[in-house]
Amino acid sequence: MSDAQQLSDLLLQAGDAGTVVFTGAGVSTESGIPDFRSAGGIWSRYAPIDYLDYLRDPELRRESWRRGLHTYPPIAAAAPNAAHLAISDWWHHGLLAGVVTQNIDGLHQRAGVLNDAVVELHGNAHWIACLSCGRRFDRATVHARVIAGDEDPSCPGCGGILKATTVSFGQSMREQAVASARHLHATTRLCLVIGSSLVVYPAATLPEVTLDVGGRLAIVNYTPTHLDQFATLVSRQPAAVLLADAQGLVSGAFRQSA
Ligand SMILES: [Zn+2]
Repeated sequence: MSDAQQLSDLLLQAGDAGTVVFTGAGVSTESGIPDFRSAGGIWSRYAPIDYLDYLRDPELRRESWRRGLHTYPPIAAAAPNAAHLAISDWWHHGLLAGVVTQNIDGLHQRAGVLNDAVVELHGNAHWIACLSCGRRFDRATVHARVIAGDEDPSCPGCGGILKATTVSFGQSMREQAVASARHLHATTRLCLVIGSSLVVYPAATLPEVTLDVGGRLAIVNYTPTHLDQFATLVSRQPAAVLLADAQGLVSGAFRQSA
């Protein structure tokens, strides 16, 4: 049986809202989003800026905004690929309880998944928030201020420090996002991992939550993970190809039963 057929069967067997999709950088590489952790990725070119240093050092904030002018445009310009579209299609068919992602690109939402159904463990690159009053701003408007010469832009409402709503080094992951992700994984029949090597917290432990409650695990990733041995399906196919094929099979099954 092909990997796509197996994946389609697993999704249909898990049934209504029976699957949580967990995605990492690998789901977005075909959209042209670089994997920040890879060789040649952003974090190998720029030293990471620690959260507390960002708060206390205006020069590091200026450096962070200068970097953003280079690193954000490719994310802003990226479009969802076939993998994002298949996931969105399954969500619209009612098969998914939710999507949990390590990505900051917002491509699941751009593919059509409702924002409330996406748990973003590392935040979202498209929004800027005031660290004092919480007001949020579209990133493009803040970048326009930086380009106009406001090198360390502050909140127009309260004067507070502005920062992208991504999780920085040294900044604790939002507890609420991790709790939501754990809840989804603990109440699902199938955890479908796409494009994550499951090495960083909490990615490394979330699929185990599903296994612990008797759920199944499917992993679509180029390289082996420590949980492959517990997975019902492990596929090394490109996510966009495999998910597009599986989407065709799932849609066909829905048409037949309609
Ligand atoms: Zn403010």
